[in-house]
Amino acid sequence: MGKSVQRIPLISSSPGSARHLLLHRYGSPGARPKAYLQASLHADEVPAMLAQHHLARMLDAAEARGEIRGEILLVPAANPIGLAQYLNFDHVGRYELGGGGNFNRNWPDLSASLADRVRGKLGPDPARNVAAVRQAMGAAIAEMTATSELSSLRLALAALAYDADIVLDIHCDSDSLLHLFLIPQHWPEARDLAAELGSAAQLLAEDSGGRSFDETFSTPFVKLAATLGPETPLPAACLAATVELRGQADVFDELAEPDARALFRFLQRRGVVAGDPGPLPRPPSEATPLEACEVVRAPAAGIVAYKRVPGARMKTGELLAELVDPMAENPARARTPIRVSTDGLLLSRALHKLVRPGDSLAKIVGTKPLASRQGYLLED
Ligand SMILES: [Zn+2]
Repeated sequence: MGKSVQRIPLISSSPGSARHLLLHRYGSPGARPKAYLQASLHADEVPAMLAQHHLARMLDAAEARGEIRGEILLVPAANPIGLAQYLNFDHVGRYELGGGGNFNRNWPDLSASLADRVRGKLGPDPARNVAAVRQAMGAAIAEMTATSELSSLRLALAALAYDADIVLDIHCDSDSLLHLFLIPQHWPEARDLAAELGSAAQLLAEDSGGRSFDETFSTPFVKLAATLGPETPLPAACLAATVELRGQADVFDELAEPDARALFRFLQRRGVVAGDPGPLPRPPSEATPLEACEVVRAPAAGIVAYKRVPGARMKTGELLAELVDPMAENPARARTPIRVSTDGLLLSRALHKLVRPGDSLAKIVGTKPLASRQGYLLED
C-alpha cells in the first residue's frame, strides 16, 4: 500500500475555531517494524519540525522507490494548540494556556490496568505476549474519552503510537548539544540511534516522574515484566526515546537535513526502510543515569552571564556563570558566582538570560548519581 496523508480533527475549544493533526502514513497497516515519529510536542521547539520536513521528503522518495518495509507514522507538527500560542509577539508553546500544564507531562498511565487486562493471556511465547500487551494498551486508549482540545490531542497521538516498535518524540533543549532520553532497558540497544545522530549524552531513567510521552509507551512493558516470572517472558518491546535536537535557536537546513538523514539511516538499520545504511558513522558516547545529571538552578533573580559553553568539560566547584543583579546599589557586589557540583559535560544552558530563582540554568552530565537528584527528575 502506498503513502497516505490523514487529517485528524481535534475537539474545538471555542466556537468557530478548529484544529487538526496531520499524519503521513507509510507502508501497509500492521507491517512490522512500526516506527512512530512526532515533532515539537513542545511547540516552541522548532528544530524538530524542520528535521521532520526533511525526513518526510526522504521517506516520500523511499516510498516511490518501493523501499518502505515496515510501517511509518510521522506527525510533522504534534502540537497545533501550542503552535498558535503567540503572546504579545512572542511564541510560547510549552504549556497549555487553559490550565492543562506542560504538554509533555501527565500522559495517560497505560500501566494502570495492564495486569488485569492481560491476565490469563500471557504464556511462554514472548512475541505473543508483546501482542497481547499492545492489544490491551490499545483497548485502554479506546476506552478513554476526550473531553477537551488538549485531551483529544493526547488521545489522538497516543492511539497512533502505542503499538509501535520504535517511538521517537523529537524535541529540543534551550541552548544545547544533541542528546537522548531513554529507559535503562534500552541501553545499549539504542546505540545505533545515538551514533547516527551524534548524540552527546544519553540520559537514562526508568521513571523520570513526569509521565512524559516516551515513557508512556516504553515503561508499561518493563513494569509488567517485573511482576512476571521467568516462564512468562516479556521484552521491552517499544523503544521509545525523547530526542533533543540541540537548542531552540538551532533551526537551519544545514542541521535539519543531516539529522533527517541520520534518522532515515536509523530506520534502515531497524529494517523499517530497505537499503544499506553503511557503517555507523561514529561510536556513541556512553549513557548516564538521569540521577547523575546535575540540573544547576538560579539561586536568585538576575542576569546570568555564562563563563562556559555547551560541550565544556567541567570539574566540581568550577565556575559556570555569574548571576548579576542589575539593581545592586554597589555594582562591585552585583555578581554571585554559580559553580557546578559534579565533574562532567556541560550539556545545555539557558537561552534566556534573565532568570528567576529556581530557574534551570544548565545540565551537567556527570557519572555518579547525585543526592540532590531523587524523585522528580525533569527540569520543567
Ligand atoms: Zn521539549
